[in-house]
Formats: sequence, C-alpha cells, structure tokens
Amino acid sequence: MFTRLDHIGIVVADLDTALQTYRDRLGFTLLERIEIPEQLVEAAFLEANNSTIELIAPTDTASGTARYLEKRGEGPHHVCYEVDDIEVTLAELAQQGVQLIDETPRRGVHGRVAFVHPKATHGSMIELLEKDAHHK
Ligand code: ZN
Repeated sequence: MFTRLDHIGIVVADLDTALQTYRDRLGFTLLERIEIPEQLVEAAFLEANNSTIELIAPTDTASGTARYLEKRGEGPHHVCYEVDDIEVTLAELAQQGVQLIDETPRRGVHGRVAFVHPKATHGSMIELLEKDAHHK
C-alpha cells in the first residue's frame, strides 16, 4: 500500500528559528520554503542524506496548526508515505475500517494528499501522498 517514506512533518512555533536549528546547527539542506495560504501555514522541506523533514509553522492564530501548537506544543506531527494511487489507498483503508481525516484527497505541496486519523494508527498521524509526475 505504502511505497516509501517521503518525509516526517514537525510542527514548530517559528520557522526562522527552526531553520536556524535544523539548517544551521544540524546541517540539513534546505530544499524549499513555501507558504500554504489556504492552511495558514508556512512550510520548509529539508534533507539530510535520504531523509526529508517538513517543518510547519502557523502564519495566523486561526490556523489549525496554531491550535495544535497551543494544545500539544512543538514536535513530530505526521509521517508521510508515498502511494501510487491515493484513491485506491483511501478506498482500501476505508474498507479496512481505518478512520480517515480526509475521505477524498486534497491539494498538497508536491501532489495530492490525505490524512489518516491518529486514533486509527496508535497516535501517529499518517499523510498519504500521491506525487505529481514532475515531483517524482
Ligand atoms: Zn507533510
């Protein structure tokens, strides 16, 4: 069902401060920094060898990420797996009785994404990603 681990998403309070840590102190390479206005967040993708992380910071107090930060604080937020066909995967998960946050895919930074409810996966939220052809 899942073809490969794409990235681990980490919620942070402030993107610039987090970049100082991950890029400047820990030596990750910044791949891209992007605003996602419809989710009121800003994200940065960084790489170390074969592993990619996504730092996510709210740009507005109304954002769901801001509420998450308030409740849970900074830290790991989701694990993203690449899938070949997101509709097929969502249908299979629904058939298995796995609780989903998104029943239909939404637009992500690198393709179509959908989230599996953390209650269904022992507390670790899963992001499914069907990459756009030009991001493969
Ligand atoms: Zn992600």
